[in-house]
Amino acid sequence: MKKHINIPIFIPEAACPNRCIYCNQFRITDKLHSPSIDEIHVKIESYLSTIDTEKTEVEIAFFGGNFTGLPIEEQIAYLESVKPYFDKGVKGIRLSTRPDYINEEKVELLAKYRVSEVELGIQSTNQKVLSLCRRGYDVIEIDKAVGWLKRYEIPFGMQMMVGLPGGSIENEMQTALDIHNWGAISTRIYPLVPIEDSPLFDLMRKGEYHALSLDKAIMRSKLLLLFFENHQIKVLRIGLHPSKNLTIDTEPFHPAFGQLVKTSIWKDIFNAYLKDIGYTSDSIRISVAEKEMLYAVGYQSSNQNLLKLHFNKVNFIIDNTLKGRSYNVGIN
Ligand code: SF4
Repeated sequence: MKKHINIPIFIPEAACPNRCIYCNQFRITDKLHSPSIDEIHVKIESYLSTIDTEKTEVEIAFFGGNFTGLPIEEQIAYLESVKPYFDKGVKGIRLSTRPDYINEEKVELLAKYRVSEVELGIQSTNQKVLSLCRRGYDVIEIDKAVGWLKRYEIPFGMQMMVGLPGGSIENEMQTALDIHNWGAISTRIYPLVPIEDSPLFDLMRKGEYHALSLDKAIMRSKLLLLFFENHQIKVLRIGLHPSKNLTIDTEPFHPAFGQLVKTSIWKDIFNAYLKDIGYTSDSIRISVAEKEMLYAVGYQSSNQNLLKLHFNKVNFIIDNTLKGRSYNVGIN
């Protein structure tokens, strides 16, 4: 399978007249202006100069704002600006937007420019949560957006959030189920991290909103990740990208959040294994697929250290014949 690379082009809040309760889009993207066409060309060419497009699937990704909320001429200008790169190995265009910025005219345009995936930032399918977050649309509008994307055969992903005001494990799992039922091919799971200069940050200061602890956010994201994996929905990201405005002190932000979630899944696997064998021994050798090694060993070797409480020597070995999180154990 080919490696995948996105060439990211960030379009900040300029396109968005909304103010969701948790948003300060400038801070999230660390960008204060929309990129010019020249800047886009420079960026794409610099990426392509380092990529072997024979071995890598490349997509140009308009992220950070709501692409289909831009004036139509701007959308066309951006789409036109990247069109020549289809002849230089770029496979497609992906972009993120809000469900209420999708209609037939917009989807027709995206289809014309061979947009390969639209990521809808739905965040939740619970009406109370959507209202508390001031998202400005309801589930019916999400459903309509999905209908247009399906009619024009544009694959779509859906981004969701964990720990929103009014959110719970139950309505987060329902959101995941709805994402599956709608037929999304991908998702991103973002734990809500209150950022300065957002209305939510003020509510938190007043004690009217309590952010999830890191542990709770890991646990809730883990349930979602396992659900999506079981339903063959690709999880493109778990956790926000590190940014100078998000520090490790702002719970539940952590720069390696996704790694912590996957570490926690392996921790559960090892705990079940230890409970099962019910004894300790001198040494243990655990084989896992290379892709899982980082998570099996654990963030800061936490899973290895857990096993060391039961075995004097703990070795991890790569075995690429193993699939997913399957593993083999040898004990001496
Ligand atoms: S839709 Fe996105 S960019 Fe617009 S206010 Fe909400 S979070 Fe911010």
